[in-house]
Amino acid sequence: MKKYNFYAGPSILPPYTLENTAKAVLDLNGTGLSVMEISHRSKDFIAIMDEAGALFVELLDIPDGYSVLFLGGGASLQFAMLPFNLLNKKAAFLNTGAWSKKAIKEAKLFGEVDVVASSEDKNFNYVPKGYTIPTDADYFHITTNNTIYGTEIRNDLDSPVLLVADMSSDIFSRPVDISKYAVIYGGAQKNLAPAGMTFVIIKNDILGNVDRPIPTMLNYQTHIDKGSMFNTPPCLNIYAALQTLRWLKKNGGITEMGKKNDAKADLLYNEIDRNKLFEGTAQHEDRSIMNICFVMKDEFKELEGEFFEFATSKGMIGIKGHRSVGGFRASTYNALPIDSVKALIEVMQAFEESH
Ligand SMILES: *Cc1c(COP(=O)(O)O)cnc(C)c1O
Repeated sequence: MKKYNFYAGPSILPPYTLENTAKAVLDLNGTGLSVMEISHRSKDFIAIMDEAGALFVELLDIPDGYSVLFLGGGASLQFAMLPFNLLNKKAAFLNTGAWSKKAIKEAKLFGEVDVVASSEDKNFNYVPKGYTIPTDADYFHITTNNTIYGTEIRNDLDSPVLLVADMSSDIFSRPVDISKYAVIYGGAQKNLAPAGMTFVIIKNDILGNVDRPIPTMLNYQTHIDKGSMFNTPPCLNIYAALQTLRWLKKNGGITEMGKKNDAKADLLYNEIDRNKLFEGTAQHEDRSIMNICFVMKDEFKELEGEFFEFATSKGMIGIKGHRSVGGFRASTYNALPIDSVKALIEVMQAFEESH
């Protein structure tokens, strides 16, 4: 049976990425060696690294003065690396969910934290607005896409201080004005590559302003100076990321990707709003185009288990909502074809007809 992969992360990757990575695991470009068994200092691997970095710059239109880093440790290590490198006195945060909270917790180890606004009062079903970013903060941190709650900040904010964004689950999903950000980071496993690689887009001139000693591996300057090759980088993951980046370019880049993502999200949200059994959990104006969360309306709540079984029997994979929201979550990342969304909608409609 055909499987439709709606997992939130690790999640669906383009067949192009999987096929080319599988080939290179056996033989990289006819070298007779696996991409897993060549030196990261070899000419073949340096070419991979260079092309991946160049495609980041090209696809995201990254201006001069930034570096693109490929590190280990996941987005979660960045929660600590950021304050380690940037927090002198105070950092400001927008609290929009579980990932924001984890970032806040780490920053508190390094200095004062000002949570300028939070949507925790409504289980993070919206993005706070109308807050003021303190001008004496060292930086302001946001999570642009809240993977668990299905809300998203889709405009690039104007910040009076350095703007830092966790874009783990919406990088490459739509065009972004990079020049508004000092740092953009994320784990690769939502929209780019297998888990185990972290990307960091960082403005070069923001470093060197904290007094504390920084361990070499946790110092962004180390990785900028060494082109992410201070130690052995996650080579296979970077190779897989390169394939996804090439696929993005072949498919019209992120403007085109953004249009496709909008179309997928519109289709599914329209069905959620139309279908008598379901309702969305996120407030309309803040709805994510990457993680679409919905539940059964109160009067149909007892049908959730049955719908889950039914959808699973039709090949829908990974649609269970996160335990802190319940219900269902369809992740509609770049690699998810619109036909998968249509298949899910058919399942929702078939279930509605029989109830
Ligand atoms: C998945 C996710 C993370 C955690 O990423 P790891 O690579 O597992 O540390 C952080 N932030 C957001 C927004 C995520 O979706």
